[in-house]
Amino acid sequence: MTGGTRGIGNAIAKRLLADGFRVVITGRDAAGAEKSAAGLSADTGRCRGIALDVAQFDRVQEAVKELGRETGGIDILVNNAGITRDDVLLRMKEEDWDAVLSTNLKGAFACAKAVIRDMVKKRWGRIVNVASIVGAMGNAGQANYVAAKAGMIGLTKTLAREYATRGITANAVAPGFIETDMTAALDEAARGRLLAQIPMERFGTMDDVAAAVAYLVSDEAAYVTGQVLHVNGGMLM
Ligand code: NAP
Repeated sequence: MTGGTRGIGNAIAKRLLADGFRVVITGRDAAGAEKSAAGLSADTGRCRGIALDVAQFDRVQEAVKELGRETGGIDILVNNAGITRDDVLLRMKEEDWDAVLSTNLKGAFACAKAVIRDMVKKRWGRIVNVASIVGAMGNAGQANYVAAKAGMIGLTKTLAREYATRGITANAVAPGFIETDMTAALDEAARGRLLAQIPMERFGTMDDVAAAVAYLVSDEAAYVTGQVLHVNGGMLM
């Protein structure tokens, strides 16, 4: 799983561990990734943290090969790593566009490409891309992020079609507004404006998102592919 050192990815890792999977989390910094992994499980055989910048295509291919040799292969990929560099188009810099597309979209492509051959050989695999409600709705101030998330949805549907006959499913989970550091930093007025658009009148929890991922990687979801599972309290229907 990409990311996982904190936030939604950490909640997904916790849930997958509870469901009995062995989990590798990644972050850009080795010490941070190892520390987060140790926080998730004292058993290094069940949970490991490694340094991996998903924006570095060649490094992703090497790291996945290495992991494959050590673990017997990766059966499930959760593309969760993501960054934001928000601004309105008038002020958005080229480097903000490139950074967000490289991590959020090209990173997902790099990881999918790195795992797919083994999954095809095994005739089993699960790919879950963590997209966002804004990938379906658009969002002012986030042209780069929204383009990346919409791109992830297109990537998901294409992988689903390409590998449907090989026992591999590809789906996206699209969280709405989730209680994270980002939403905690909003002032009362901004929170109120957002909550007014959510039929359930609450932000989602990280566990709400983790439960959707857990379903999509489970055997129960064997006939579900190419879908976007929205977890947004009804904000988008
Ligand atoms: P977060 O707290 O900022 O965590 C981001 C994670 O991604 C961290 O573990 C970070 O690890 C990792 N990461 C960032 N850049 C990376 C890179 N280049 N290579 C490898 N790992 C990298 O974010 P979050 O709020 O949990 O969001 C997780 C995912 O959910 C993202 O894809 C985000 O777009 C999506 N999402 C979030 C919300 C929300 O309300 N928060 C809503 C919709 C969608 P290090 O910092 O240790 O490198």
